[in-house]
Amino acid sequence: MLNTLRTIVHEVSSADNLNSALQKIVRRVREVMRTEACSVYFYNSETSHYTLMATEGLNPLAVDKISFTYSEGIVGQVGLREEPINIDDATSHPKYRYLEAIGEDKFRAFLGVPIIHRRSMLGVLVIQRAERQRFNEDEEAFLVTISAVLAGGIAHAAATGSMKGFPDGHLSLKPFEGTSGASGVAIGQGIVMVPPADLSAVPDGCCTDIAEELAMFEHALTEVRESLTISAQKLACRLPPEELALFDVYLKMLDDKALTFEIRHRIESGLMAQTALRQVVEEHVNRFEMMEDPYLRERASDVKDLGRRVLSYLQASEVSPSQYPDNTILISEELTPAMLGEVPQDKLLGLVSQHGSGNSHVAILARAMGIPTVMGAVDLPFHKLAGKQLIVDGTLGHIYPSPSDELVKHYLQVIEEEKAFAKGLEVTRDLPCVTIDDHKVPLWVNTGLMTDTVRSLDRGAEGVGLYRTEVPFMVRERFPSETEQERIYRSQLEAFHPRPVTMRTLDIGGDKALSYFPIDEDNPFLGWRGIRVTLDHPEIFLAQVRAMLKASAGLGNLRIMLPMISCVFEVEDALQLIHRAHEEVTAEGVTTSMPEVGVMIEVPAAVYLVAELASRVDFLSVGSNDLTQYLLAVDRNNPRVANLYHSFHPAVLKALCHIAKEANSVGKPVGICGEMAGDPAAAVLLMAMGFNVLSMNATNLLKVKWALRRITLTRAQDILDKVLQLDNAHVIKSTLELALSKAGIGQILQSKNLLSGNLPPSAS
Ligand code: PEP
Ligand code: MG
Repeated sequence: MLNTLRTIVHEVSSADNLNSALQKIVRRVREVMRTEACSVYFYNSETSHYTLMATEGLNPLAVDKISFTYSEGIVGQVGLREEPINIDDATSHPKYRYLEAIGEDKFRAFLGVPIIHRRSMLGVLVIQRAERQRFNEDEEAFLVTISAVLAGGIAHAAATGSMKGFPDGHLSLKPFEGTSGASGVAIGQGIVMVPPADLSAVPDGCCTDIAEELAMFEHALTEVRESLTISAQKLACRLPPEELALFDVYLKMLDDKALTFEIRHRIESGLMAQTALRQVVEEHVNRFEMMEDPYLRERASDVKDLGRRVLSYLQASEVSPSQYPDNTILISEELTPAMLGEVPQDKLLGLVSQHGSGNSHVAILARAMGIPTVMGAVDLPFHKLAGKQLIVDGTLGHIYPSPSDELVKHYLQVIEEEKAFAKGLEVTRDLPCVTIDDHKVPLWVNTGLMTDTVRSLDRGAEGVGLYRTEVPFMVRERFPSETEQERIYRSQLEAFHPRPVTMRTLDIGGDKALSYFPIDEDNPFLGWRGIRVTLDHPEIFLAQVRAMLKASAGLGNLRIMLPMISCVFEVEDALQLIHRAHEEVTAEGVTTSMPEVGVMIEVPAAVYLVAELASRVDFLSVGSNDLTQYLLAVDRNNPRVANLYHSFHPAVLKALCHIAKEANSVGKPVGICGEMAGDPAAAVLLMAMGFNVLSMNATNLLKVKWALRRITLTRAQDILDKVLQLDNAHVIKSTLELALSKAGIGQILQSKNLLSGNLPPSAS
């Protein structure tokens, strides 16, 4: 059964035309299920009609001619009920409709199953037999499986345009869905970024110079041959001859006409060498995997391995795409912060990642940079989107590949509205963030990239509440030297001077990996992360702190912040190292004052140690991104549980209240630098809780300021009291939004999207 399914999937995905794909499906299903007829009907959501699209066994002339409404016939009933109908005699069904042209009067047994993709009804797949006998359970289960597999294949083909011939209005497809990474809309061209030597991630693409592409391919083959021969020689004395024979098998496969001939042939027809390699290797792998003989089935992994080897050489000779289009939408199976750095900022319009969620670091950076982003688009066939036009709706988390002109027009209007909305906010840039009843709330920014700095100053940031120092570490291929770090930190401190700049010591681990310092763990978020790494590597910590101290000479606006603190001794050890670094730089002749040092409250243990931690440092800052993930036991990167990650969860709100209260009672300033602070609705609550500073991504700063300038602290406290009585995050959110709407600041709420026709808020 698995093999038959694979064959069908393969046949569908290799067809470039809908009719031939459907014809192949009905033929194959009829054959393997030994039925007399197999037919497929598509549903047109605009006209609410079904149309016969392909058949084996019914009158072929009826294809495309026969159509009926959504509730007509047994096919209509299958669609209406969205479940299979399996009957021994179709003619006895009350909804049976006799259609002469279709030629089904000789059939009695009927099994129809709906073809549903992501809750959308695409059509109905039907098998029929003359014999008056219900199809058995196995047959029903098999057809349901085929239909589910087909639904995905057909929907992807329709959405990505990889298959031609879809009739208008058929397939009521929804956009690909993910979660919002950064709001806003972008329309542009998909550029797929591939992790090294991952064959499945190679996008479809055509080449511009066939001769050059062929030469690259031949060169890669030669390199693989040589490396295999060298490996075989090196292992000759260590491996038995039968194991060594594997290298011969590989070498023979490389010379195998079937494999390399097909790849060359596809390159000659205009495909990129990498695309041709992926396609041919996948086909061979599929063929091997379907073989009954276990030995031959095993050859599938050899072909895969060989394919990967050739690919790594092709990628090595690949010219990096220095020519990104001006409207680049960067797509990847898993976007990383380092990938962001590879595209010139003025060309990067949007981001799409199949993995991750709105709380992943790459999404946080994207928000800071104001780049519309969709994360966790798990169904997205990303490798088919290279060069395709795309709409990225970062607000709703939707992606539309190959959109219609109508949709593009609609979204262009949305982009215009958003620009007007942002313009309306600009008037507040130089106004203080002060409530109607005169309560001042300093608004700071979170930074990491140089572009953040410019954007932050443009928006009137009063300081930096979190400078993520790991970003310059991530975009390099080795640890930056102390001097390099000093230069980077100096530019940050100078740009904001005299405003305070809070530099967080290196916070790697979790989802922030350094390619040159891999940390491979089963449970990285509970593992070697943040301060745990740097205390174990005092040389890295000291070099970083020394660089910060030297960079701050003559400026005096540096603050140092420690991430992932869960024990008092970690703070004591870190403080000792900071004092040592200060002595060292002083001994080197640098005059710089000892900076303020603070602790991040981002793990549950720290929540219960606020007073103890506060007594040892100058300030506290809540990292609500991690605190939410650890309190709720919800991985901030996992799209499957993204709906459970909620900063308005009553437990999170209670923890935040506790932190603010404790810090205020011991007289230590407490801020918040998680993403929550940049949500205008959450900012109202945080102010009411008693947070002294809100630090957020630059993109949201003016929105937060606009909201806080229009409310009183007293009203905010009333709203907080009210939501603290509630026990459900969703109810809290909607109660809060309602209260804010009543207070006259509903327009700014993050969950609103401009598609619903909001007008830009008026100034000040
Ligand atoms: C946080 O955890 O809230 C935070 C600000 O740090 P990061 O997102 O970099 O982990
Ligand atoms: Mg954190």
